Amino acid sequence: MGREERTLLRLVIIFISINLGLIILVALIVKRYIREKLEHMATYDQLTLLLNRYAYRDILEKEIAQANRNNSRLSLILFDIDHFKKINDKYGHDIGDKILNIVAQRVNSCIRKSDFLFRIGGEEFAIVAAQTTAAQARILAEKIRETIAARKYIHDITVTLSLGVAELRKADSTEDIFRKADAALYKAKQAGRNRVEENIT
Ligand code: GH3
Ligand code: MG
Ligand code: MG
Repeated sequence: MGREERTLLRLVIIFISINLGLIILVALIVKRYIREKLEHMATYDQLTLLLNRYAYRDILEKEIAQANRNNSRLSLILFDIDHFKKINDKYGHDIGDKILNIVAQRVNSCIRKSDFLFRIGGEEFAIVAAQTTAAQARILAEKIRETIAARKYIHDITVTLSLGVAELRKADSTEDIFRKADAALYKAKQAGRNRVEENIT
């Protein structure tokens, strides 16, 4: 092999190595992007961009463990849009989706940075409030109820929420506190909706 051929071969090898390096780099970037995207989809609700119900389970469990460790208080607020089916029936599912989104953003603006807001079902939401007593959670729930009821939505639609509040008691599991807040929410619905009820057990 002549000198020129060896130089050419070296250049070809360098060229192939650079390209291989670039391909590996792009593959790693794409892999990371896909992993982050999947993690995001597993944690966030795609309509409202709030944390979803899988995140709710994980975070509530962690926050309860921390509250027990630190002997601190924790409250759970569950809320559900009143007569949402009527809004869907009258204005259509797309308007229903837009309203869900606006409700989510308006509630989000009422809470503190340390509170977690989740969409746990169709038109059902939860707030995990660490270092918060039932009385304090009730004040927050009342503020949310008023904020949502006081404002107009697209097509001048009005929206109301029913909310249930429960505070963590010793030895309560995630299911226990959920059941208590859900019972309070049920009571708020039974009592006429657009109201806050607290479970005092
Ligand atoms: P209540 O006051 O008892 O809660 O009455 P409701 O009509 O809100 O309750 P119901 O459970 O009967 O209906 C909930 C409705 O929410 C029915 C369903 O079509 C609607 N819904 C659930 N998820 C979505 C969604 O992602 N988008 C839209 N547009 N509607 C949804
Ligand atoms: Mg409802
Ligand atoms: Mg519901």
